[in-house]
Amino acid sequence: MDYDSKISDTVNAIPRSGIRDFFELVIGREDVISLGVGEPDFETPWNIREAAIYSLEKGKTSYTSNLGLETLRNSISRYVTDFFRVDYDAKTEVLVTVGVSEAMDLALRALCNPGDEVIYHEPCYVSYSPSISMAHAQPVVVETKKEHGFAVQADDIRKAITPKSKVLILNYPTNPTGAIATPEELAEIAKVAVEHDLIVLADEIYSELTYEGDPGLSIIQMPGMRERTILLHGFSKAFAMTGFRMGYACAPPALIDAMMKIHQYGMLCAPITSQYAAIEALENGSDAVNNMKADYERRRNYMVKRLNEMGLDCHSPGGAFYVFPDITRYGLSSHEFAVRLLEEEDVAAVPGTAFGACGEGFLRCCYATAFDKLEIAMDRMERFVGRLS
Ligand code: PLP
Repeated sequence: MDYDSKISDTVNAIPRSGIRDFFELVIGREDVISLGVGEPDFETPWNIREAAIYSLEKGKTSYTSNLGLETLRNSISRYVTDFFRVDYDAKTEVLVTVGVSEAMDLALRALCNPGDEVIYHEPCYVSYSPSISMAHAQPVVVETKKEHGFAVQADDIRKAITPKSKVLILNYPTNPTGAIATPEELAEIAKVAVEHDLIVLADEIYSELTYEGDPGLSIIQMPGMRERTILLHGFSKAFAMTGFRMGYACAPPALIDAMMKIHQYGMLCAPITSQYAAIEALENGSDAVNNMKADYERRRNYMVKRLNEMGLDCHSPGGAFYVFPDITRYGLSSHEFAVRLLEEEDVAAVPGTAFGACGEGFLRCCYATAFDKLEIAMDRMERFVGRLS
């Protein structure tokens, strides 16, 4: 059967993830140290796992309200007030989702008509462009640059605006560059959003893992932004809960309602076991988050120092768990560099181009890997670039 003709044009047009393609090369290689997967190497803290187990022991195995357990929404509302200094009504302004992934998909589908333009900054998380396309909207890229620490500039956003612009996606700290924004940069972006009546999707998934400045700083705090921002957050990164698939959206009631309409038919509700785990995470998880964060920071400092010493120029990223060294001086493409590093030294790092064309000349190295493995990976990389120079 000609399956391509059966599959929708939108889906046929979506490219495969560059990360996935690269990691197919890793399969079957035994001694590889992976700096590739953007996932905490920590297990979920025990008290959080225990809360999930206890909920099962008590027989909590039903659907929940479509919006999520009320206790969890109350915890989210309190947490967001403490962390981001913005109040949301737990009854009408919070929606519990299956990860930030679902929240982002819901937001885009709830907002976009076919042909609407969604602006986002690259290099970025691999799912933004496909998610925009699946919402039948038009992805519009704004490139970020090394000289700005990969923070998107308001003027560049302004240049990308057309009468069809409707949504702006912001992600700080940024995957894959670890970029953070200054309050001034966010204030300028907020002005553009207000001026052009944009809705902003603020993907805050790495916010707790911010090592410089104020972790709670967000576009949401800028004048005029609360009414036009959907704050997307989750548990995967800071709480090391990727497999629980828990996230949430906070926004004015009309926007949450619109997202809810899709969520209630597509997903019904987020898994109840994960919701109980999430309550424990928010109420009693901060020590564990701080300990993991301290460990990530130590690894970041080590990796940035080693990479710069070996000649792989990289800025010290303000957040997340990625460094994004510049490899242009070696005259290889990102893909060639990454494949040779893998084949010659068994270190897997992702070519910058997996995160957008402007990632050419860079490599994403994730430091959510045990310290002793990072040391070996850095030794191997040093040997590799030593041979190239
Ligand atoms: N947003 C960004 C920027 C990410 O890096 C990721 C995962 O890597 C996600 C969203 C997806 O998160 P979740 O596990 O909550 O679906």
